[in-house]
Amino acid sequence: MKIKFHPCTKKYIKSTCFGRCCHSSTGSAKVSIENNLIDRFKKRKQKVVKGLLVINNKVCLFFDKSFCTLHDTRDKPFGCIVSPFKLNKNDTLIVRHRYISMICHRQGTKPVYKVHKKSLILVFGKEQAKKISLRLNKSSDDFSVKILIKKYDVLKERETIYKKTKVV
Ligand code: SF4
Ligand code: SF4
Repeated sequence: MKIKFHPCTKKYIKSTCFGRCCHSSTGSAKVSIENNLIDRFKKRKQKVVKGLLVINNKVCLFFDKSFCTLHDTRDKPFGCIVSPFKLNKNDTLIVRHRYISMICHRQGTKPVYKVHKKSLILVFGKEQAKKISLRLNKSSDDFSVKILIKKYDVLKERETIYKKTKVV
């Protein structure tokens, strides 16, 4: 959780990384869509099959001019917001492997738990995320935290979907 990343700001995305994490390097982009968003994506005339948005392109179809057009809307998938993190098979929250190859890691200036604070807030809630951050400020030791079962299930389900489609 102390791996360094460059802050994921609009300016940085538009000038430097060009939203690299919304592109696939191996075939079509894969975006997991949680069940409660499926109807909203249908209204946007998009198809979701087995939890994945159907995209026949290396770049997500909601990506435009170096930016996510769903950013700051209710439709931005949970999976996209928490994307830099994943729960591994031991239920430990770790940085998703593909992010290690991104330029924002190579140009990293701050620990990932600070840069991607929004992701932690979404997963653990504001209070808990604050406690996690304070704890990480003081120590690098592993520790346990509680997570809502609903959020846990979405994270696990997402890993199952990605595993089937070989996303690391
Ligand atoms: S996580 Fe990294 S690659 Fe993705 S948009 Fe943010 S800065 Fe860019
Ligand atoms: S929905 Fe937005 S954040 Fe998610 S992959 Fe597409 S462009 Fe990127």
